[in-house]
Amino acid sequence: MTQLVWRKVMHIHELIPFLIQEGFSYDSIKQSLVIVLECAMIDAIDYFGNSSVLDLVKDAIFYYLLYGFLVSLYNNIRGYGIIGYPKIVFRSASKTIMSKILNSRLLKSKVEKEVEDTIEKIESQLIIETPQVPDFQIVPQTHLSDSQILEHLDNLSDLKHSEWESGKVSGAVYHGGDDLIALQAQAFQKFCVANQLHPDVFPGVRKMESEIVSMVLNMFNGSAAKEACGSTTSGGTESLMLACLAAKVYGEKYKGITKPEMVIPETAHAGFDKAGYYFGIKIHHARLDPNTYKVDLSHVKSLINSNTVLLAGSAPNFPHGIVDDIEGLSKLALRYDIRLHVDCCLGSFVIAYMSKAGFDGVLPPFDFRVPGVTSISCDTHKYGFAPKGSSVIMYRDSKLRECQYYVNTDWVGGLYGSPTFAGSRPGALSVGCWATMLSMGEDGYIESCRGIITNARYLKQRIQDEIPELRIIGDPLLSVVAFKSDQLDIYGLSDLLSKKGWHLSTLQKPAALHLALTRLSTPESIDSLVDCLKETVAVLASHGHAATKSDTSALYGVAGSVQTTGVADRLITGFIDTLYKVRE
Ligand SMILES: *Cc1c(COP(=O)(O)O)cnc(C)c1O
Repeated sequence: MTQLVWRKVMHIHELIPFLIQEGFSYDSIKQSLVIVLECAMIDAIDYFGNSSVLDLVKDAIFYYLLYGFLVSLYNNIRGYGIIGYPKIVFRSASKTIMSKILNSRLLKSKVEKEVEDTIEKIESQLIIETPQVPDFQIVPQTHLSDSQILEHLDNLSDLKHSEWESGKVSGAVYHGGDDLIALQAQAFQKFCVANQLHPDVFPGVRKMESEIVSMVLNMFNGSAAKEACGSTTSGGTESLMLACLAAKVYGEKYKGITKPEMVIPETAHAGFDKAGYYFGIKIHHARLDPNTYKVDLSHVKSLINSNTVLLAGSAPNFPHGIVDDIEGLSKLALRYDIRLHVDCCLGSFVIAYMSKAGFDGVLPPFDFRVPGVTSISCDTHKYGFAPKGSSVIMYRDSKLRECQYYVNTDWVGGLYGSPTFAGSRPGALSVGCWATMLSMGEDGYIESCRGIITNARYLKQRIQDEIPELRIIGDPLLSVVAFKSDQLDIYGLSDLLSKKGWHLSTLQKPAALHLALTRLSTPESIDSLVDCLKETVAVLASHGHAATKSDTSALYGVAGSVQTTGVADRLITGFIDTLYKVRE
């Protein structure tokens, strides 16, 4: 076939002197076209007549692959720019080469040694001695009495840990009120054995689960959609992953998309990337607007192509607590007929009650009132204060929800179907969530929203007014306040804060810290944080920048550098391994 193309070019080439001679007259152009067409037809007949079936198939495959490659190249250049895309390719190639070099025998032992040292350090911090509680590496030969076990539990819960009780840990524990804990424990006790896989055995749990979904749908204006629906899940990550799975399956089923892609903001939760990893969905991270820190809609638009199955926005995002322009995303989603997920995992019951708590008009619409929004995730185990292991995924219609279900009619074990990733599910967690929601009530959630937002604004204001070395990122309107510094090593600041018991979240690109406020973040605890920030900023400033290279900043340096590709991955893997190590 390539020959054929060549010959055609030759014919056309020969026509040019003729056309020039005729001064590109109408007749000469017409004549030339006829010649070109005739030649093409003769060539085509020649090609199809004389090629073997094998050649035809080979050619077809070659041109199909070439077409696919060119389309993908075109999409990537359109998405990342004529300079941006080669940069990405170059960086990824450099990383591959660097990781090969680091794995070569020469360097491996040196890198290995450093990695091992660091992992040992992590282990020594996490795998601690428990003098009052023996190590149980095998099932004890003779059983323990209840009182012995309870004593062990007391001792284990008393081990030295980060002080969440006084609001010094970002996020992590969202309520922690004693009354609520007592209620949740009773709810657990009553439904300890419950399993939603068997609604006939536990009809009460089925009722409670369906009511959790209904209550949360109502908070997110599900009535604006004709048949909004949803399901409970084990947490925000599962909710996000189900939304991505549903979008992928929907794209395949109704639009014939076999190579799914999604476009998410750079600030979207890692759960989206995890979904991409699990389900084979290609991810595009859209840039942020440098002033507002919301996702840049024009970049989202240029990353959309015919394989896009899902767009996403956060309300708010985890790193900076910024709410993306959901209405803008919705316009794109409707225009290109793509599903749109809004991640309200963190916003949860705070964002839902903003208007009712008196912060009317602070936020533009972000829920099912926005027509392009097709799914929303909300963590009942964050500002809903339910026990951990509880979240809700909502959909605009049941056609989309169905795409997350697993159905099997062939299994030897009988007809099988389940709504989420788990098979058996812990009914007690849903009961705990249901009891918590009734116990809080709308009045309780409104009050908690008011307190958290008021305190977040207070923290934002005090940092802005009193600590010029720190700069608030964007304009956070909800419960997360993130800040960076142009003058100081922000990770060094984080390490100093840790020494004083404050555990803020560390962020990268840009290097920053944030506090996710909870019920435990009282005005007093914020005063104490601001004092602590002032002290540590002063210490850092007096040390000069270079003198304070901290462990954390070294770690992020390793993670961000092409030269150390793969090293940070190994450290994280080592950290995860540590979670399951017993003491030797
Ligand atoms: C917490 C969070 C999630 C989900 O996290 P889980 O730990 O799985 O509950 C998703 N998105 C955002 C923005 C979050 O803050």
